[in-house]
Amino acid sequence: MTSNKPLITTVRSLDPNPTAGISGPADKGLFPLASRADGLVGSVIDSSTSLLAAQTHDIVRFAMGAPAAEVIPTEEFREIAGEVLTDASFTYGATEGEPDLITTVTEQFSSASSDPERIVITSGGMQGLDLAFKLFTDPGDLVVVESPTYTNGSGTALSYGADVLEVPVDDHGMDIDALETLVAESGRVPRMIYTIPNFQNPSGTTLSEDRRRRLLDLAHRWGAMILDDDPYGALRFSGDPVPGFREINPDDPLVFSVRTFSKILAPGLRVGWINADPRLRKLLIAGKQAMDTCANVPGQHIVNAYINRGGYGDHLTSLRTEYKRRKEAMDASIARHLGDRVRTTNPDGGFFLWVTLQGDDARVASPRLFEIALAEGVAFIPGPSLSPSGQFQDAFRLCFASSTPERTEEGLQRLARALDIARKE
Ligand code: PMP
Repeated sequence: MTSNKPLITTVRSLDPNPTAGISGPADKGLFPLASRADGLVGSVIDSSTSLLAAQTHDIVRFAMGAPAAEVIPTEEFREIAGEVLTDASFTYGATEGEPDLITTVTEQFSSASSDPERIVITSGGMQGLDLAFKLFTDPGDLVVVESPTYTNGSGTALSYGADVLEVPVDDHGMDIDALETLVAESGRVPRMIYTIPNFQNPSGTTLSEDRRRRLLDLAHRWGAMILDDDPYGALRFSGDPVPGFREINPDDPLVFSVRTFSKILAPGLRVGWINADPRLRKLLIAGKQAMDTCANVPGQHIVNAYINRGGYGDHLTSLRTEYKRRKEAMDASIARHLGDRVRTTNPDGGFFLWVTLQGDDARVASPRLFEIALAEGVAFIPGPSLSPSGQFQDAFRLCFASSTPERTEEGLQRLARALDIARKE
């Protein structure tokens, strides 16, 4: 996961007519589109949901980072919905979130701090990212991202006109030496550093404590916000926990934390939260009011009641056990069917493995491999879709969390077949 030149993606360097693919090549002439529309790059990850839904043949799905359907406690959600949803659940709620859920999040999910004024409930983690970029990036500002990264995040930065600097990731997360060098070479000062510190999407790697401390120092030197996006941290199944930014520097005003219940409970509920300095609260509420008035109210009531029934801890334990089993099954299937044709990362939690093709196989472009693999009945996210500048032709992301070991075995057989076909082209 290395690159040796400073990679800065700007809205100006993107496809000159990105909306063409979305709604027709005549749009630019037909509609009075804002220049901001040029930065709306869309999400290959999200679009894979409809692409796969449209297929009529059987597909093993290693693409989307969604919890396994069978681990979502739907039966309990249904019961809870019957009990707790009242007329008040179906009207507008407070923009900052339902008071009971704010209390629960403050008391049970805020590690070092316990101030409800820090918490704003959001429509999933994505809205937290959107609000962060909305508040802190002007067009032309430099935003640092990991490379590879969760391109929904970097894409949101681009949608606000930011210039995005990619910094390589190794087995210990973002390479901070490279960060310092690349920023110095750019001759600019970043406004924001976007990091996914635990079991990073897509590489699965975790930022070491030493690097977290250095990142905090750099943020203060540059006066940059750290956008701490951590949907997977609770899903550690091996190794020792690494202290979070909030534990290292409690209540650091430059740390803006985005969290979500999507990966632990259910993504369809669309409930997440921001933990940020209380002095940002009014702005965050105003920013959110310009988007959606309030997060899904029934969803917030269901999440809150589920947590307060007391089964959350056991649920988390069973997820960790199950995802460890699935990750080990994927390792074994990869070893069986791909062997030394690939190198993979070795995550201690989360959802993803990052696979890099080796030797002659590295000449196969992962977007082409994706097309063949889809026809063979297996899906993943190609490397270039996980880098704003389209790096990582020879790599791809596999989600081990959403398939049973049996399906994973089937999927890896299909993937090996696809690689053989691609090699011969
Ligand atoms: N950040 C990262 C790193 C993610 O992987 C995801 C979900 N794929 C999100 C944010 C968004 O979470 P949500 O679905 O709650 O909007």
